[in-house]
Amino acid sequence: MILPTEPQPFQMLIDGRWREAQSGERFHSVSPAHDVSVAAYPLADAADVDAAVAAARRAFDDGPWTHMPGAERARLLHSTADAVRAHIDELARLEVLESGKPITQARGEMEATADLWDYAATLARHVYGDAYNTLGADKLGFVFREPVGVVGMITPWNFPLLIISQKLPFALAVGCTAVIKPSELTPGTTLRLAGLMMEAGLPEGVVNVVTGYGLPVGARLAEHPDVDMLSFTGSTAVGKRIVAASQGNLKKVSLELGGKNPQIVCADADLEAALDAVVFGVYFNMGECCNSGSRLLVERAIAEDFVEQVIERARTVPVGDPLDEATKVGAIINQAQFDKIMAYIDAGQQEGAALRLGGNRLASECGRFIEPTVFDGVAPTMTIAREEVFGPVLSVVTFDTPDEAVRIANDTMYGLSAGVWTGSVDTAFQVSRSIRAGTVWINCFMDGYAELPFGGYKESGLGRELGRFSIDEFTELKTVQLHLGPRTNWWHRG
Ligand code: NAD
Repeated sequence: MILPTEPQPFQMLIDGRWREAQSGERFHSVSPAHDVSVAAYPLADAADVDAAVAAARRAFDDGPWTHMPGAERARLLHSTADAVRAHIDELARLEVLESGKPITQARGEMEATADLWDYAATLARHVYGDAYNTLGADKLGFVFREPVGVVGMITPWNFPLLIISQKLPFALAVGCTAVIKPSELTPGTTLRLAGLMMEAGLPEGVVNVVTGYGLPVGARLAEHPDVDMLSFTGSTAVGKRIVAASQGNLKKVSLELGGKNPQIVCADADLEAALDAVVFGVYFNMGECCNSGSRLLVERAIAEDFVEQVIERARTVPVGDPLDEATKVGAIINQAQFDKIMAYIDAGQQEGAALRLGGNRLASECGRFIEPTVFDGVAPTMTIAREEVFGPVLSVVTFDTPDEAVRIANDTMYGLSAGVWTGSVDTAFQVSRSIRAGTVWINCFMDGYAELPFGGYKESGLGRELGRFSIDEFTELKTVQLHLGPRTNWWHRG
């Protein structure tokens, strides 16, 4: 594939129109693998956020979207799914150029994105409440579900189109409107998605996209008094700032945050399958993945052999140009993330873990790549066993009993996901029930379905995305009570 020779120009979408920022300034995204400018975007500030929120507010309060039959909203969501499928190659290429992820993986993410839109469309026709016919002869009670209102959405750079598609179609399905702030590193596919929706007939103001940095754009969205809900995916540190910023109007907040996810491998597991999943789990998306299986908890009886095999397999993982069809691990997103990962690798060595593989920058003409890295002999107290590295670094900890594995697994501030590998149904379910995490995979890892809710315990998040539960996330409950027949006056009651 040919690299861009000049940045592709984009504008923001506000109130159905493509616009520059009010400041007139622009910023560029840069390919992590090729060091070339990929695209140029309007550099928004708080005034642009205010304009976008005003448009979303109007579209929610006055527009046709909220009161449209669910079947009509479903049609638009299905059309968006079709449009994503029709543009897979274009979207995947843009995603690769801005994020550094491998092209084959990016195509898969576009397929998964289209599926999310199709699934959310089915929910648009299932937003219903309750009726109570049991309150007495003269009373009826109804519980309606109503859209929460204007939803601010702030997304990260690691799965740009997939993550916005875990929020936007679900919010739209129930009748909300949205203002989106994609990561400043990867806004391209989110803007293309908005363009495809406009072509499919989305009414103006229903979806608005503002491009710029966390400060001031994300912060203004999080504090905005006319935003009813803020749906955030990103780091735990910024998630806490979102909660603080939301206090002004007590908006609803949902958070999808970081993880330090264990894969527990017991001696009685299918070790060949576990081996493949461990290597996939930690190096997928360069380890820049909230679900990264960055901790391997392996039973002591098999640890030596198993870790040896992990190292041999990891050594052969193809790292390199993400536009190459054979690549499995691409480039690290930017210099700051690269430095952070290298600092964790230093910390692992300083604190006495054994560096068994990798740990270095890979030589390359451009971009920045890190060798698949394995640390053995990691104590649960070490930094690399506790903190999210967000890079291709595996920390191996050993255990003697499933109870000990669970204790180690739970001994972090995170609780996003976990994997357990065992041939015993008892162990599989005992471990699954004891792990404090939003998702547990038994004899599989990082599978995902639009039907199944996703989110974190503890400091990995608040609320859930996906599945029919997402209707609850993006709606308010309203109780409506009806009196039948003549009213018994207050002063006549006993
Ligand atoms: P980040 O928290 O730095 O940024 C996320 C978004 O927040 C970006 O759009 C950024 O511009 C914006 N932002 C930054 N400061 C802000 C502020 N003060 N107010 C409002 N918005 C602000 O995260 P990142 O580096 O883009 O992504 C990596 C993190 O995301 C990792 O911790 C990862 O685990 C997490 N993540 C979680 C999930 C999940 O579903 N749980 C999925 C993907 C990534």
